[in-house]
Amino acid sequence: MNVPKFKNINIKSYKPGKSGVNKKKKYIKLSANESSLGVSKGVKKILKKKNIFLHRYPDSKSNALRRAISREVKCDFDKIICGAGSDEIIQMICQLYLNKNDEVILPEYSFLMYRIYSKIVGAKVLFSKEIKFKISIENILKKVTKKTKIVFIANPNNPTGTYLNKSELILLRKKLNKKILLVIDDAYHEYNLKKDYVTGLDLFKRSKNVFILRTFSKLYGLASLRIGWGYGDKTIIKALYKIKPPFNINLLAENCATKAIADKGFVKRSVIHNTFWGNRIKKTLSNYNISTNETVCNFLLLDFKNCKISSNLFMKKLFNNRIIVRGMDEYKIKNCLRLSIGNSSENKYLLKVVNKIFKNV
Ligand SMILES: *Cc1c(COP(=O)(O)O)cnc(C)c1O
Repeated sequence: MNVPKFKNINIKSYKPGKSGVNKKKKYIKLSANESSLGVSKGVKKILKKKNIFLHRYPDSKSNALRRAISREVKCDFDKIICGAGSDEIIQMICQLYLNKNDEVILPEYSFLMYRIYSKIVGAKVLFSKEIKFKISIENILKKVTKKTKIVFIANPNNPTGTYLNKSELILLRKKLNKKILLVIDDAYHEYNLKKDYVTGLDLFKRSKNVFILRTFSKLYGLASLRIGWGYGDKTIIKALYKIKPPFNINLLAENCATKAIADKGFVKRSVIHNTFWGNRIKKTLSNYNISTNETVCNFLLLDFKNCKISSNLFMKKLFNNRIIVRGMDEYKIKNCLRLSIGNSSENKYLLKVVNKIFKNV
């Protein structure tokens, strides 16, 4: 049949972390790095309001939210752009910078959306080897050619849970050709309390060739409202506004995010909870020779190379106990899985199940 032909896009579509499978049984979802404490009280209040003007178009520039961000995070209002998740910002950055056959460098184990959006616009994706699950600056630099346009890194990185420290970030920017855009995704920055860590935003607030990504999907618990933001030089932001769909941020998302970012108490509680449970879970797992990253994110990458059982068997056993975690096949990380840190009762149950599993193997 003669029909219009569309482009052949050679990518695998994104598979989200599994959620509740059988509706009759209640599953504990520890597969998508979502907020363990839900949303803040202020956000809950907004969601209960009945007089939200949903029949009106939202503010296309999300000015109220951008003002709140610039106030709370201490950065320039007019260097902020909001997206339907940081996802949409990644997409817009790829549209703005990449032509067919341009090259993008990604650490081999990195967030899948970077490669997906890069490939959609026809760019070539090159993967730099990591060393012990950590981004290697040297290996990134080895991949640079005249065609390189963007290097994406998440810091801390998903799914490995490792990070580049301040001096390493500075070194990377220094050694990378000035014409290459360095995108630093700060998605998990709140959880990283290490003294040698600094956020991309804090380090490169005034840089013209670094672009920062932030999200409300993780610690703030607004994953379903789809809201994130990007930060960069005014000229970049101005160009991105030409690409941005006019009403990408809905009113409810903007209101909730504006409230959420001002609630420092919720952030603090979430981080304390995360550090406490992350360390406790890590310790229990180490009893069974499952090694993990340190708690610098709201998830742990579990490595089974020294363990009696494989990651696949462990994952199956967790599933039989109604716990869902994330397999690492798509990322091509062998014998590992990713576990998000849950709320207290979920974590207690998890540890009970883990101890039970190893009693019986
Ligand atoms: C979860 C995550 C995001 C957030 O994506 P949203 O589109 O904002 O929900 C961004 N980057 C990384 C590395 C992530 O893990």
